[in-house]
Amino acid sequence: MKNHHFIFLILTIPFLSVNSLVAQNAKQKVLRNLEAQAGLYGSISKKIWEFAEVGYKEKQSSTLLQETLKKAGFSIESGVAEIPTAFVASFGSGAPVIGIMAEYDALPGMSQDSIPQKKSLGGNSGHACGHHLFGTASIAAAISVKEWMKETGQKGTIKVYGCPAEEGGSGKVYMVRAGLFNGVNAMLHWHPNDENTVSNASSLANKAGKFRFYGLSSHAAASPEMGRSALDAVEAMNHMANMMREHVPSSTRIHYVITNGGKAPNIVPDFAEVYYYVRSPKREIVKDVWNRIEKAAEGASLGTGTKFEVELIGGVYEVLPNDVLAKVMGDNLQQIGGYTLDSKELEFATTIQQTPGMQKVDLNSTQITSIGRPDPSGGGSTDVADVSWTVPTIGMGAATWVPGTSAHSWQAVAAGGMSIGKKGMMVAAKTIASSTIDLFLSPEILKKAKEELEKRRGADFKYESLLGNRKPALNYRD
Ligand SMILES: [Zn+2]
Repeated sequence: MKNHHFIFLILTIPFLSVNSLVAQNAKQKVLRNLEAQAGLYGSISKKIWEFAEVGYKEKQSSTLLQETLKKAGFSIESGVAEIPTAFVASFGSGAPVIGIMAEYDALPGMSQDSIPQKKSLGGNSGHACGHHLFGTASIAAAISVKEWMKETGQKGTIKVYGCPAEEGGSGKVYMVRAGLFNGVNAMLHWHPNDENTVSNASSLANKAGKFRFYGLSSHAAASPEMGRSALDAVEAMNHMANMMREHVPSSTRIHYVITNGGKAPNIVPDFAEVYYYVRSPKREIVKDVWNRIEKAAEGASLGTGTKFEVELIGGVYEVLPNDVLAKVMGDNLQQIGGYTLDSKELEFATTIQQTPGMQKVDLNSTQITSIGRPDPSGGGSTDVADVSWTVPTIGMGAATWVPGTSAHSWQAVAAGGMSIGKKGMMVAAKTIASSTIDLFLSPEILKKAKEELEKRRGADFKYESLLGNRKPALNYRD
């Protein structure tokens, strides 16, 4: 996600820049509004941090965001795309339509206090990807823009997309599949990070699923010949997958965890399960390698006398970048700027930076705004990708973590639960709000962004989800 080595490509499209006095005045109002509400949004984010609800179980988090939007005058469509915790909130009417994404799912096994030492709070999950901030800043941006629309009579619609289960659940894919983004002119999003950046990078396409093997149990010492081990099948499959690594494009990533390997050594396991991810910068490669992984499962079941089934859990495209929108968001982030750590935060940051797993980077980078185009092969996967092939989409990263922190770490949970997280979140809220104003005020930018989308995806592009027509995997965290 992070890259400091790329030079900003200056996109010289002067007629697209929005510098009018109208826009500047509007932005100043919206920024003042956000500043005044920072305490409220800080407390909302802290509540969601405490709820720490995992994918598709984000009932309290989703409700809190919906209620806040409703109170602000948005109309809410809840439980969209057959997902109880997904929602679309709208204000205004007609075109243009600008959408902002919000996420709010936590990660299992990541409970952590908001202190600079590793210490579980005793819960099962934690916000190690900062989605409590993601959701909160997005509604903050939308509400502040709505105030401006109401005051000025600005035409158009602002929408917040409440997107559950980003972490492996591919929530947005079902929302794209349900046509919820049709008619939207631009989608904005952001992600917690350890620096403030507009990267306009792509991401890895990803397909994920659980392979379940069924054998026969027997006494492992007295009558092993009567048994057929489901764990043998998992091990045989993994062995084949590990050999396959040599024969796939080198940017491919294959990872697995054994989610069930039997219960006791003296019982031949009659059930075992392994959870796989396959990733690549190109979804065509993901599809191909995934099919080969399924063949390995089939071979393993044949050789071990077991039966198998596969349940597809996740499937996302690679992000389609958009230079036109990246320029808008980049300009706004430069204008907003970063923030400074106060003395207490500096102490927190200095302490946490000495813990294992942290990179030793300049603590001042909460002020740096880097705008570039990082190596597209790096990083993870996101279901934002499927949205980006449907609507022109752009996102940014905000420094919600101590510089040098990686996502999915206890250090990310810790900083996200204190003032550093809240400060970073407001950088995102302000940048998204300002960018949204630019988009409302400039039909020309929206037109160019759409032209770029159409050019990049090709004339014969037709969206087909990597998940086929499966229903949302609402129980994938069980
Ligand atoms: Zn995330």
